[in-house]
Amino acid sequence: MHVLTFAELFASWHIGLSVAAAAAIFTLTFVGNKAAAFIPVLKEAQQLNKTAFAEKMAKPAYAANQAWNRKWSGLFILVVFGVFVPFSITLEPQPWWRVPVDCFVILMVYDFVYYLTHRFTFHDTEWYEGPLKWMHAIHHRQHNPVKWDGSYIHPLEVAIGLGLYAMTIFVLARFMGPFHFVTIVVTFIAFGAINNQNHARWTVDRFPFRSWAYASRMHHFHHVRFTGGNYATITLLYDWLFGTLDNGEGDPRLKRHKGAKASGVASEA
Ligand SMILES: [Zn+2]
Ligand SMILES: [Zn+2]
Repeated sequence: MHVLTFAELFASWHIGLSVAAAAAIFTLTFVGNKAAAFIPVLKEAQQLNKTAFAEKMAKPAYAANQAWNRKWSGLFILVVFGVFVPFSITLEPQPWWRVPVDCFVILMVYDFVYYLTHRFTFHDTEWYEGPLKWMHAIHHRQHNPVKWDGSYIHPLEVAIGLGLYAMTIFVLARFMGPFHFVTIVVTFIAFGAINNQNHARWTVDRFPFRSWAYASRMHHFHHVRFTGGNYATITLLYDWLFGTLDNGEGDPRLKRHKGAKASGVASEA
């Protein structure tokens, strides 16, 4: 068995590339948000969310949570781009199709891992109480979230969410080989943008914004009650697959279980 030497390990630690990716992610996200303001519909949504966010920030407890998170996020970003990404990124040329395929694989595998974590540790299940619901309850204090409520959250939950994402990239890179710089940048931007979009308030429900409106509506259903479904964050595929799609009435599996208990019928497994 080949034992990895320190020199070999160091050679696969592409810290410069990782820092460049972080810079590209922050710059492109910033520029993207500025550019969105030139599209009237997006500008309107930005304004709506900004006003609602300002109202929330006027409350000291809310502002304290956002500040609490900002303080910790620097450390998490340092770990993600200093440890996980440098071992998983490359500039070696790859066939063009690998970029969309890898982006899809990373986001779908992460979504599955997140779905399981969210459903089986952050919330009560049909069988037991959610062991981390005390932590996740902070995020659920927002019954009608706005764009930046993705970061109204316990710092430990940020560590778990970001950690799962970084681990997904790290572990997949061990099997699939390092991901191209472009793949890393695109998936990180998509990860952040989708999380923000899920929490954003959105009034326009017409082409080409239908899927955004749907994602936002479905995640808002999740926030209405602590027993809501829609646990996945990137797409709702796993909720559809496992019967936890919530169209406004709560997690159907939990509801069925409670109904069965109340009527004395043995609950389904
Ligand atoms: Zn939740
Ligand atoms: Zn949320």
